[in-house]
Amino acid sequence: MADRADIQPENKEGKYYVDEQCIDCDLCREEAPNNFTRQEEEGYSYVYKQPENDEEEVDCQNALDNCPVEAIGNDV
Ligand code: SF4
Repeated sequence: MADRADIQPENKEGKYYVDEQCIDCDLCREEAPNNFTRQEEEGYSYVYKQPENDEEEVDCQNALDNCPVEAIGNDV
């Protein structure tokens, strides 16, 4: 389960975030390319834009549900 206390610093403030458990598998960036991107130097994902419509919300929830290491959170 993701922990907001271990959030990656690039995450855009808001509901969704990626924590330090990320293994850079690319799944969330494929599921929700409008919201997740890669920190190229360190090799992990972060939320660069919070979802702004129903489609993006669904995509982000799918990314959360399918992240293999549960590094994505959406608690507030
Ligand atoms: S799906 Fe999870 S492990 Fe994979 S890149 Fe995204 S946050 Fe990292």
